[in-house]
Amino acid sequence: MPDLTRNAGVGNAAASPTRSLAIDNIGSLITSDPELGRGPLGIVEHACVVIVDGVVEHVGPAGAQADDRIDAAGACVLPGFVDSHTHLVFAGDRAEEFTARMAGEPYDGGGIRVTTEATRSTSTAALDQLVRQRLAEAHRAGTTTIEIKSGYGLNITDEVRSVQIARAHTTESTFLGAHLLPAEFEGRADDYIHLVCNEMLAATAPHSKWVDAFCETGAFDVDQSRAVLDAGRAAGLGLRLHGNQLGHGPGVQLAVECGCASVDHCTYLTDDDIAALAGSDTVATFLPAADFSTRQPYADARRVIDAGATIALASNCNPGSSYTTSISFCIAIAVREMGLTIDEAVQAVTLGGAAALQRTDIGRLTPGATGHAVILDAPSHHHLAYRPGVPLIRQTIGPLATVGSPTHSTPARSGR
Ligand SMILES: [Zn+2]
Repeated sequence: MPDLTRNAGVGNAAASPTRSLAIDNIGSLITSDPELGRGPLGIVEHACVVIVDGVVEHVGPAGAQADDRIDAAGACVLPGFVDSHTHLVFAGDRAEEFTARMAGEPYDGGGIRVTTEATRSTSTAALDQLVRQRLAEAHRAGTTTIEIKSGYGLNITDEVRSVQIARAHTTESTFLGAHLLPAEFEGRADDYIHLVCNEMLAATAPHSKWVDAFCETGAFDVDQSRAVLDAGRAAGLGLRLHGNQLGHGPGVQLAVECGCASVDHCTYLTDDDIAALAGSDTVATFLPAADFSTRQPYADARRVIDAGATIALASNCNPGSSYTTSISFCIAIAVREMGLTIDEAVQAVTLGGAAALQRTDIGRLTPGATGHAVILDAPSHHHLAYRPGVPLIRQTIGPLATVGSPTHSTPARSGR
């Protein structure tokens, strides 16, 4: 499987993998390295980045020589966004459910199970095309590395093809068989978890880097979630966990105990949860677009940062609770509602996302790092929160995946 995140292509300018590309005349460059520039983001003014074979070779003053040149015309350039939490492999949408929720009307459309039915009844080629369209959308919005979970198959066949599709587009593919109890296992959650931890894991692990579980009241309890993490570790997978989204619960403590790379949502945290995160290498990943779309309170990320924990922000793109690929939107919410400074929010979608994926080659524009960058239609990164809702991504450099030339035909609706 090719390592797509290290794909040599750097935009249209890279006709040959050995040609060098200069992003020149940068007004404000975010390197993510305080030793290279000003402040925690390592900001360099009047800068140039030279990329060779998809890797940053040089960062310095404007005017460096290279085979090809992109003129940033004084704009801000920052590392490509790292979206460390998405559920892109699904069919159908749940716009009616969202519309009813926003209107305050009762609606029982079946939730995740509706998406599971739609996903199961869609061909692999059509599912893959849907993922490509979403990836193209994310790339236009500045994302250059993305994690993609399974979790709408919920049987062996459909979980396997979900992680295969994910893996075809990113190295950061995650097996999330323990997303929700499928209807056919109603009342038999332990039987389903046994399936997830055995045959389903064995079939999906070759296509997965990570295993994940949804540890929440109404999904899976702490023992079931621990069983999934233990089995995933034994299969050689890295560990991630959904926790503390809908209320206080054991997710964060379990994630820290198991050494998860990240625990995601973290909307409801006790002082003990925050202390556990601060004393661990587990990243607290916030998904504010989900809280937006479900009218949940926003997480108090300020407390978590002040305690010394590492945080990330991600889109959680999924059809039920967060149908957005916009990292800029997440930045704006985090700054307005979660107590982050703009610098902290930008760090959370670059270095933070990289930490959540245990990567050191992304989320930064420093020599040796992957040459994935975003050119803004703005003079500084502050505009990402200052001008919410405005499409400020002028150009995304470095392919998110082998999305090729995505077609823009109408996605096939299926299921219902
Ligand atoms: Zn999720």
